[in-house]
Amino acid sequence: MGSKELFEEAKRYLVGGVNSPVRAMKPYPFFTARAEGARLWDVDGNCYIDYCLAYGPMILGHAHPEVVAALKQQLEMGTAYGTPTELELEFAKRIVRAVPCAEMVRFVNTGTEATMAAIRLARGATGRKKVLKFEGAFHGAHDCVLVKAGSGATTHGVPTSAGVPEEATMHTLLAGFNDVHGVEEVFRRHGEEVACVIAEPVMGNAGCILPEEGFLKFLREITREYGALLVFDEVITGFRLALGGAQEYYGVTPDIATLGKIAGGGLPIGIIAGREEVMRNLSPEGRVYQAGTFNGNPMSMAAGIATLEVLERTRPYGELERLAERLRQGLQQVCEDAGAEVRACGVASMLQVYFTAQEVRDYRTALQADAELFLRYQREMLARGVFLPPSQYESCFLSTAHSDEEVEQTLEKAEEAVKAALEKA
Ligand SMILES: *Cc1c(COP(=O)(O)O)cnc(C)c1O
Repeated sequence: MGSKELFEEAKRYLVGGVNSPVRAMKPYPFFTARAEGARLWDVDGNCYIDYCLAYGPMILGHAHPEVVAALKQQLEMGTAYGTPTELELEFAKRIVRAVPCAEMVRFVNTGTEATMAAIRLARGATGRKKVLKFEGAFHGAHDCVLVKAGSGATTHGVPTSAGVPEEATMHTLLAGFNDVHGVEEVFRRHGEEVACVIAEPVMGNAGCILPEEGFLKFLREITREYGALLVFDEVITGFRLALGGAQEYYGVTPDIATLGKIAGGGLPIGIIAGREEVMRNLSPEGRVYQAGTFNGNPMSMAAGIATLEVLERTRPYGELERLAERLRQGLQQVCEDAGAEVRACGVASMLQVYFTAQEVRDYRTALQADAELFLRYQREMLARGVFLPPSQYESCFLSTAHSDEEVEQTLEKAEEAVKAALEKA
């Protein structure tokens, strides 16, 4: 069966035909048959250069030989034990070595779980209830962070999803990203009650929005001043911007970091990493409960260790950034030449194109970009063999399997795609 037929049938058995909302492309998503390096092949026989990379994890490209070998080896030795393993110790040591804030770690199964536990940990460690998050930031799909834009920086959170009672978000405070004044205002009103500020140091779930000069450092200082903890949600940026994540890249060390995506080498994972004094509040040592059947799962550990091993050995970050910069500049140019108002944004190997004349510095300015035009552009790219995440509010990624050849091809296709997208306006 082809993707179209599979999707028709899938809609009968899976809600919306998919298992995560962003995958529901119109008119139907392609069904992947296999992936290798920088490319995906669908069941219809098409091949795509992949800039989605499973929404971030595949920094070494798909089916990297060293990751595959590590998984094969582990597979034969069993896939879940419910006991400690040496793999967990080895992986923990590597993370502590790489990530500035990490003195101790806890392995869980998803990024969602990691931020949920990190917030509970911050609340438990400080004895406070309130959490400040930024408009447009995504920290996974659990209740207290399912809040986006309120009416102004100090507004109490209103849930974004049905099924989340106001009581679950009444302690969630909001501010605009890069809005120093707004954050100060929240702290002036609620500072003594704030358990933590949770931030994506680079916003990767509203496109790709960079912190302005000094903003992360400001978050570090104001949280210290008020006795709140700083949590960096590095589920995307961890091992992506640098081996030590955004905290290494920008030189600002939080109290707690959440990791995921890349850290699992393509298998499910979430990690809470932080200062020893804070981390020791977790059960079984402390009173903040956290538990999981698949925590520290040996398959995820094996794939994660193999991935970190390659990243440590090859240090690909300079080359990734060079390639991504070439793509960003090239996309800016071809879109401008086609007559579009455009901002190609990004850092390291993350990027996103916004069709707007305005600088994109927070969620509100991101929402002003032409998301309809973006979707037409995304579809035209797909028709030409380039897979971009099907939303204006996702980031594109490069992997070490991408080269100048893929970037060259992508820019050629982008030139045609953006023209076609503009014509269909
Ligand atoms: C993807 C993501 C999460 C959620 O991770 P899952 O593994 O999908 O649960 C949390 N925070 C950020 C910043 C993410 O990008």
